[in-house]
Amino acid sequence: MNKPTVVSGIRPTGYLHLGNYFGAVQNFIRMQDTYNCYFFIADIHSLTTHPTPANLQAGVKQVLAEYLACGIDPEKSTIFIQSDVPEVSELYAFLNMNAYLGELERTTSFKDKARQQPDNVNAGLLTYPVLMAADIIIHKAQFVPVGKDQEQNLEMARKFAGRFNRMYNCELFPIPRPFTFDGGDMIKIPGLDGSGKMGKSDGNAINLVEEPKSIRQKVMRAVTDAGPTEMNSKKSEPVENLFTLLRIVSTPDVVATFEAQHNNCAIRYGDLKKQLAEDIINYTEPIRNRINDILANDDYLAKVAKLGAEKARESAAKTLAEVKELIGFKRLF
Ligand code: ATP
Ligand code: MG
Repeated sequence: MNKPTVVSGIRPTGYLHLGNYFGAVQNFIRMQDTYNCYFFIADIHSLTTHPTPANLQAGVKQVLAEYLACGIDPEKSTIFIQSDVPEVSELYAFLNMNAYLGELERTTSFKDKARQQPDNVNAGLLTYPVLMAADIIIHKAQFVPVGKDQEQNLEMARKFAGRFNRMYNCELFPIPRPFTFDGGDMIKIPGLDGSGKMGKSDGNAINLVEEPKSIRQKVMRAVTDAGPTEMNSKKSEPVENLFTLLRIVSTPDVVATFEAQHNNCAIRYGDLKKQLAEDIINYTEPIRNRINDILANDDYLAKVAKLGAEKARESAAKTLAEVKELIGFKRLF
């Protein structure tokens, strides 16, 4: 039982999309046999955007079904819902005492969200990296498989883990590292709107449950440019983004054909998009079918959540007891 520990989570803020899949979930599945894995649904994190209770419940159910449909196996991995493990919130409170306003205000994700939702710049948004650190270190994780967008938040988690160790002169927490296969780069899947990343809350995503008709519509509407006019010219960002998607879902010879066509200015973006849409449909179809089957099985979902909560709480409670002892929460009387 000396497998390295892995933790990662996804906010239940909408349907999982290609970015979540290729940036995170695909790695989760590949890691299940060789690592001690904790994969959770970050329902507390999702409160920063004030979901209604009904939306929150539906979101949690959806992500749980999607995790399972993608192939996360509750026999191999611990799959749990963040709010089922109150120890995480307790550790979050402790870590907050050693997290500083300046460093939290400087994180890119905070600045982005503050810009996107100026009327709702809440303290949870500011301390998001602290809760994320608690999620990770409460299981003493060594690795965190996340997409490129989480790189800086993970850097904060490393900082908070190291700070706790130094403050209490201990080596309680391993310093968690981002995980990619074969030491590759962290992944960023672009949206269909020309720039930036695909995101659940950004209206630019292709979801795993997306129907073929809707996939075709979304891909055909994706932003491109007027087409190359010089041989071997560099691709514009929106076009490069379409190629990024193509590289992920299509075969190498399909990619090579369109690359060559772009290089000799013969490319027709309509053809590229048609091919891309069909390849996305082929890729996602079996996952979509499984999601819909699992969503209809509440008993199974409840069983998985219960089992996961038990396993996650056991691990979390053990770490929290050590943390409290180190902090000095023990009586002299
Ligand atoms: P939201 O818009 O609500 O923040 P999201 O789509 O960004 O949703 P998260 O729940 O924040 O999803 O992130 C879940 C995981 O998916 C993280 O590991 C994150 O790095 C990864 N991820 C999200 N979007 C992408 C993307 N476009 N490319 C690669 N990885 C991604
Ligand atoms: Mg996000």
